[in-house]
Parts: sequence; structure tokens; C-alpha cells
Amino acid sequence: MIEVVGLKKSFGPLEVLRDINLIVPRGHVVALIGPSGSGKSTLLRSLNLLCLPDAGYVAIGDQKMDFSAGNVSLRDRDLAAFRANTGMVFQNFNLFPHMNVVENVMVGPVTVLKQDKKSARERAIELLAKVGLADRAEAHPDQLSGGQKQRVAIARALAMNPDVMLFDEATSALDPALVGEVLAVIRQLAEQGMTMILVTHEMAFARDVADTVIFMKDGYVVEAGDARQVINHPHETATREFLSHFH
Ligand code: ADP
Ligand code: MG
Repeated sequence: MIEVVGLKKSFGPLEVLRDINLIVPRGHVVALIGPSGSGKSTLLRSLNLLCLPDAGYVAIGDQKMDFSAGNVSLRDRDLAAFRANTGMVFQNFNLFPHMNVVENVMVGPVTVLKQDKKSARERAIELLAKVGLADRAEAHPDQLSGGQKQRVAIARALAMNPDVMLFDEATSALDPALVGEVLAVIRQLAEQGMTMILVTHEMAFARDVADTVIFMKDGYVVEAGDARQVINHPHETATREFLSHFH
């Protein structure tokens, strides 16, 4: 479902991604772990083109985006079409504050996918039910807890029918008591076969829900493998050192 080959990205002199290669089969869940500044967000953002890499290519489904010829040749229409492959969930929800919950979930399908409002609303209510928020459809974001906001953000991303879901520290901004309800929704998506990449600091969750764990450091993939193996028995010293902070 996802193929990343030779991906590189620098910000000025700082090399943030230094030749990243990655394959994610359909229905697999990958947990991306590593210290702050290792390039995890930049890699995730490269998959939905919020960040444009300097070299390499990304393929999602049957679409391929090649960066080797430079970014200037990439056309907006191609970028938008490619972006539609992925749904992204951020640390800070990014809900539209002036819209209620169901409007937040409908707005993409109506404005981008040109769905009619009635069917977009029906689908939005279905997705809100799926994340346990059907009864909050008319609430405004500021009336919701962080966990509820994040579940709305997940429903909103799913409303665009992406092939892949990307989560960038989706629970890092939440009170500890609210983390579980968001992880439960992510776990449910995994069980339903959604292809996902999760940047997370929840190591037990990564071990239990992900198929593969990838450990990044300084822009490199240091170690990648079976989730249980990497978390419980890492091969690399750097992985072991990183994981020691979580026990
Ligand atoms: P992580 O998500 O693993 O914490 P990031 O991908 O956010 O790491 O960042 C990797 C490095 O790239 C950091 O040193 C960060 O400061 C730098 N960086 C990220 N985005 C930008 C940007 N837009 N401009 C300049 N430097 C950036
Ligand atoms: Mg990050």
C-alpha cells in the first residue's frame, strides 16, 4: 500500500531524512518511534506532501510521487490528488472552531469531494457513531474534551475515504485519563484492516497494535521489525537506549 524509496529532506544544512526506505503492506499498522527531532513528523508529512522531500519517491496504492526531478515540476492538481490518499491526525486536533462537530466532519466531503450535503451529513453521523460521538454531532469543539476532539478529528479524516491513516502523536496533548478512548478508536481501525502509520510514545500500544515498529534517529531508520521483537528485544543499542526511558 505504501512504498517509500530513497527519501531525503534537508532544511538548509540540517539533513532531517537521510535515505528512508519503507514498505507497508495493505492493512498493516506501523508504529514510528524515536527521539524528538529524529524526523518522524517530517517523514509522515512527506507521505501526504505537507512537506516536499528533496529526493526519492513515495507510492501509495497505484499513485506515485517522484521527487527526484525537483519540487518545482510538481503540479498542484497532482499534489491534491495524491494528498487524498491519506488522512492525517495531528497532536492538536485542528478542528474548525466556528463549525459544530458534524459540520467539521462534512466540510471536506462537501467542498473537496463535491458530495451533496444530505449524504455527507448521513455519512458524518455514521462516522461519529463509529468513534462514539453520535450524540455530540451538534456540539461545538470548545464544548468537547480533548479526547472527544481527537475522535472528531479521526472521523473527519475518515470522511475523505483515505487508503491510509497517519497519526502524528495523536494522544500526546491529552490528559492521561483521555488517552485510552482515542487509542481504543485507533485499535478498532486496526482491527478493521485500515493501513496506518502512527507516530507514538505509547510503547505498550505500539507493541500490541502495530505489526511493525520502526525506530528512527537522526534522520535514519535504525531498526525496523516485528513490533514485539523491536519493543521487547531490540537488536540495536540506540533502540535499547531509547526504550529504556519508557520503563
Ligand atoms: P520529530 O517529529 O521526530 O520530533 P521532526 O520531523 O519534527 O522530528 O523534525 C526533525 C528536525 O527537523 C528537527 O531538528 C526540526 O527542528 C527540523 N525541522 C522540522 N521542520 C522544519 C522546518 N519546516 N524548517 C526547519 N527545520 C525543521
Ligand atoms: Mg514530531
